[in-house]
Amino acid sequence: MVDIVDPKTRSRMMSKIRSTHTRPEILIRQLLHRQGFRFRLHVQNMAGKPDIVLPRYRAVIFVHGCFWHGHDCPLFRLPGTRQDFWQEKIGRNRENDRKVLAILLASGWRIAVVWECAVRGKHADLPGITQELGTWLRGTGSYLELRGPPVSR
Ligand SMILES: [Zn+2]
Repeated sequence: MVDIVDPKTRSRMMSKIRSTHTRPEILIRQLLHRQGFRFRLHVQNMAGKPDIVLPRYRAVIFVHGCFWHGHDCPLFRLPGTRQDFWQEKIGRNRENDRKVLAILLASGWRIAVVWECAVRGKHADLPGITQELGTWLRGTGSYLELRGPPVSR
């Protein structure tokens, strides 16, 4: 497959994706905060440096960008060029995500993964997500994953 843009432009486009990838995270933080949850951010000394840590609830929340974490969803599409490079890089990210999950679960942390596709687009059900997260945080479940609706490609 031939890319429609030159490598330089492509690289600039990809780095843009990386920088906007924190927007869903900010959104989740605001939703939690409004519900009265207090948390710490990007805790460096924990496996995977979780985006949001709620020590009181023994819970961490990861907000995953669908591209960087290789989500099986419509937001994930390999760039037209250097596909091997991206495939390998994203494969490593996924492998790392699995390891981090195992380490945190083994040390008694509860984990929620919120995928970017759950909070993006017109189908995003933010009140629903807020409620689900809140219920999970106050409960005892060890793992929660929130993703967007499946869309036909
Ligand atoms: Zn996704």
